[in-house]
Amino acid sequence: MWLAPRHNVAMPSILPLDDRSIAIAVEHIRAGRLVAFPTETVYGLGGDATNGAAVAAIFEAKGRPRFNPLIVHVPDMIAARRIGDFDKRTEELASRFWPGPLTLVVKRRADSGISELASAGLETVAIRMPADRGARTFLAEANRPLAAPSANRSGKISPTTAQHVADELGDAVALILDGGACEVGLESTVLDMSGETPVLLRPGGAALEELEEALGRKIEIAGPGAAIASPGMLESHYAPGLPLRMEAARAAAGEALLGFGPAPAATLNLSESGDMREAAANLFAMLRTLDRPDFAAIAVMPIPEQGLGRAINDRLRRAAAPRC
Ligand code: AMP
Ligand code: MG
Repeated sequence: MWLAPRHNVAMPSILPLDDRSIAIAVEHIRAGRLVAFPTETVYGLGGDATNGAAVAAIFEAKGRPRFNPLIVHVPDMIAARRIGDFDKRTEELASRFWPGPLTLVVKRRADSGISELASAGLETVAIRMPADRGARTFLAEANRPLAAPSANRSGKISPTTAQHVADELGDAVALILDGGACEVGLESTVLDMSGETPVLLRPGGAALEELEEALGRKIEIAGPGAAIASPGMLESHYAPGLPLRMEAARAAAGEALLGFGPAPAATLNLSESGDMREAAANLFAMLRTLDRPDFAAIAVMPIPEQGLGRAINDRLRRAAAPRC
């Protein structure tokens, strides 16, 4: 099959969602490219959740100034269980509300294969099974979980038609699957089931009252003063145990050096060629690897404040900030 190279595509191609276009979309996903697809909530900007570079391309396309965890989309429960741990109450919620506009945050399985960037280095992962039949066929054919935030530029409203996506994301996507206007037009409800108490992280398409009724208990609402911080406000984020030093030219005694660009002395290198996507894809996994008591601190070489570099530096600054 002939696939247009990304940089030569002047106009993003929009194809009606059918078996033929899904087959083309699957080829793009396998090659690490991005495909926008309709769900019942909004259009998603999909990339292979197991491919760090594809996930980095999602952040780049959206122009997000920071790495927040993405929702991983699955076609069925078998795929969901491969990624996260579902306890009995969470299984019950899934069987009642899936497919549908509910995202469940659960503990991430060690062997999930999901890129660390997709869940922003957290021990948890957000999973959803969309109701849209076309979306599920695409997910099943792709045969791998897709990370998919809304297919809009950061700070803009979520797209509910294929044309919205085309207008905003231009040639950042290899293909837009057109399934008409979205039914719900509102983002999914995000419910954190990873702890003892269920916590509502974002209100959305699934009603809080119905979730409480299904669980047979009250759901805590994340927000200022709540026991658990909401992602939008005091977002919980990955922080290494070791101190972190930015803009390091070289390692001091005892420090691990996390390189960027040519750096023969680096303990690990985010990207020897200075490729931002590669660096973003490696960021969380490399910080984790270096976060060992045999080092005194992690020194990170300078990363240019442009494109994905902004989001990388944002994460590093949070990791370097004094702990309270
Ligand atoms: P979007 O993909 O843009 O619709 O947004 C996904 C929402 O889910 C954001 O509010 C994220 O912060 C939240 N989210 C995704 N994964 C997690 C997680 N592991 N823990 C907490 N919140 C999450
Ligand atoms: Mg969004």
